[in-house]
Amino acid sequence: MNIGTQILILEVPMESFFGKTTIYPVLLKDQDGLTLIDTGMLGQLEPLRKAIADAGEDINRLKRIILTHQDIDHIGNVHALLDLLPNTALLAHKDDVPYMTGERPFVKLTPERINLMDIALKQQAEDMIRRLPDLRFAHILEDGEHLPYGGGVQIIHTPGHTPGHISLYVPAQKLLLAADELRVVEGELVGPAESATPDMPLALKSLDKLTVLDAEKVLCYHGGFYDRNVQARLQALSQERG
Ligand SMILES: [Zn+2]
Repeated sequence: MNIGTQILILEVPMESFFGKTTIYPVLLKDQDGLTLIDTGMLGQLEPLRKAIADAGEDINRLKRIILTHQDIDHIGNVHALLDLLPNTALLAHKDDVPYMTGERPFVKLTPERINLMDIALKQQAEDMIRRLPDLRFAHILEDGEHLPYGGGVQIIHTPGHTPGHISLYVPAQKLLLAADELRVVEGELVGPAESATPDMPLALKSLDKLTVLDAEKVLCYHGGFYDRNVQARLQALSQERG
């Protein structure tokens, strides 16, 4: 699905502990190349590669990757992509970068969690963690920052799901890329998943930063696209926390 000429929503099948679902990474298109927002589940580069090809784009034109946060369904293929395209620049929020470089242990991907994985995924997770100190971030993002890609995007720090979780706003399209701060569940826009959000009060407080946007469309990494009365729905969600 395309929003305008510069924003391509990818539909990528994913297999995880929760069975088969679809995730929605995004490609921003510019003269100088492509910017990918999130990379899909660990060990599942092929479905991402296929989704990029199906969107009519060439993965070799990838210039940069924005990681919305540290979870393995978002950073999962970052090493595989860098192996393929070593000059790709990495961007992430300053409060999640220390986890992605191995300076701090992942908030959710704990040794206990890794031990519950099947042997193949466990191996991949351990390999990824071993390689984290190799990751170099070209640009460390801060709240409110504007990036010129895809016609211009604004970084919104929405902590709670992880400390450095970001959402992105595309003013020209009135489009909010919510990452995991919002989900679409059974057709309705809802807040972050409680089971995967260690600081739920903070994540709900972060919703306030989204209600002030002039958003008419939302893309959630889990659940996809939503465009029904977005502002009213965001207001309601932010008030529900009481
Ligand atoms: Zn996620």
